Amino acid sequence: MLRDYLWQRDYLLRISRAMTSQLDLRAVLRTILESATELVGGQVGLIALAQSDGSYQIFASYGLSPKMIPLVQPLFSNLPDAAGSLDPLLWTIPDLERRLSLVGRAIGMPFRQVVALPMNIHDVVVGVIYVLRQEDSAFTTADRRVLSSFAAYAAIAVHNARLYQEVTSEKRRLDAIIENSGDGVMILDAAERITVFNLALTRMTGIPAEEAIGRHCSEVLHLRDLSDREIPELTCPLARCQSGERFYAEGDYVRYDDIRITLGITYSPLLDLEGQLLNIIANVRDITHFREAEEIKSTFISVISHELKTPVALIKGYASTIRREDAHWDEKTVRESMAVIEEEGDRLTRLIDNLLDASRLQAGQLKLDMADVRMDRMASRIADEFRTQTDRHTFELDFEDPFPHVSGDQERLRQVLSNLISNAIKYSPQGGQIVISGRYDDERLYIAVTDQGIGIPAGERSRIFDRFYRVESALSRRTQGAGLGLFLAKSVVEAHGGQIWVSSKPGQGSTFVFTLPRAP
Ligand code: ATP
Ligand code: MG
Repeated sequence: MLRDYLWQRDYLLRISRAMTSQLDLRAVLRTILESATELVGGQVGLIALAQSDGSYQIFASYGLSPKMIPLVQPLFSNLPDAAGSLDPLLWTIPDLERRLSLVGRAIGMPFRQVVALPMNIHDVVVGVIYVLRQEDSAFTTADRRVLSSFAAYAAIAVHNARLYQEVTSEKRRLDAIIENSGDGVMILDAAERITVFNLALTRMTGIPAEEAIGRHCSEVLHLRDLSDREIPELTCPLARCQSGERFYAEGDYVRYDDIRITLGITYSPLLDLEGQLLNIIANVRDITHFREAEEIKSTFISVISHELKTPVALIKGYASTIRREDAHWDEKTVRESMAVIEEEGDRLTRLIDNLLDASRLQAGQLKLDMADVRMDRMASRIADEFRTQTDRHTFELDFEDPFPHVSGDQERLRQVLSNLISNAIKYSPQGGQIVISGRYDDERLYIAVTDQGIGIPAGERSRIFDRFYRVESALSRRTQGAGLGLFLAKSVVEAHGGQIWVSSKPGQGSTFVFTLPRAP
């Protein structure tokens, strides 16, 4: 008796070791079966697991070759419901002896005795365990009792495996949701180290997940405000999250390619049941476009109000003066006033056209009306027009002769050249020479406009092509302009497949160059 007890204890120890060290359910159940069968002196052990349709499928066996398994399957058909049966020791399967002898005959192993027990967990039957004996001696109640502990272990193993499976598939599902989310997701541990960095965040920031994971978040995402100061709560969100607070903040991130993006981040703390911080979940959105759109909108409104107001005020002023009934104007004054009204009217038309073009460009609707264009002739005509508007500037044309034709939109290219020349005049208030030159090679034409004006500081040279951008200076405050001329010029040149750039020496002048591809 004592020996049995010790044996049983050894077997149970072996099983519990198998259960804690192995995740392979089949292997664990085989260990259980082997121990159980040996301990109660059987030759064959079987475990069948309950399926969702109520049937049972053999899952583990001991003492049978694999090809015999299908032949013993009839032992598990139409089992009575064992759920909730108070005492598994009393559970019986009708007709089992008859089935046993049929099966025994089929596989050539004359079985005489069988003991069958349900594997219950929380009153749910997850499977059944059978031990078969070839001898005549019947299984005793003690055997059944021994077997019932093994059945309980087997039930726990099945239950654990199912839980584990559920947890892993749930985790896989969550991982897939996070990885494929359109928003950036970053998960930090309680020490602010990155544990998850999803694909959308990599796309946004250009930081590969392998580089981010495991590092402190402040080493990876340097978020700054508009004046380039680090935003402490964004770089180290722990302080605010520890109190369980969820918060949103915006900051700029400069990518490896020097592009500055604006991120809107919601940090949500995840607490355990005791209120301790487990993780911080950061949901990240690229709001660069919203920011830009907002900035453009407010610049647009201030530019429009300023640029439209001036000519309208002039027109109204001159018109109402001329119209006064109590005054008599000589013909010269009337003509000069009318000339101002006409000029300001033209300026308004130009501004409105530019604004319309800019919004068309934004909507991607710039259409080119292609024709054969002679840039040298066009330059000389535009220079003639501008000559009448300034007596401080001289114009020089310097085109290689003959100069090749190019295929382009005559009207749009005229707009480009005249924007550049009008800038050359506007931004050289002391006057000077303005040279319009043309060169070419096998592939391109190069058209340049050079002035001797105020020049452009190096830091501003890339931004002057942006919409509404004007260099801040006393002169730009005095001169009119919406900051659209170069933006439109660049868009037109690029739509032709060309490029535009500037070189400049502040205080000495600037040269704007654009290229146009030559027809093959
Ligand atoms: P608009 O052309 O819409 O009437 P604008 O002349 O101010 O207004 P852009 O032609 O786009 O706008 O030029 C942008 C800015 O670039 C100007 O405000 C000016 O500060 C600077 N800039 C352009 N051309 C020159 C130049 N030749 N010399 C010095 N600064 C220039
Ligand atoms: Mg301009």
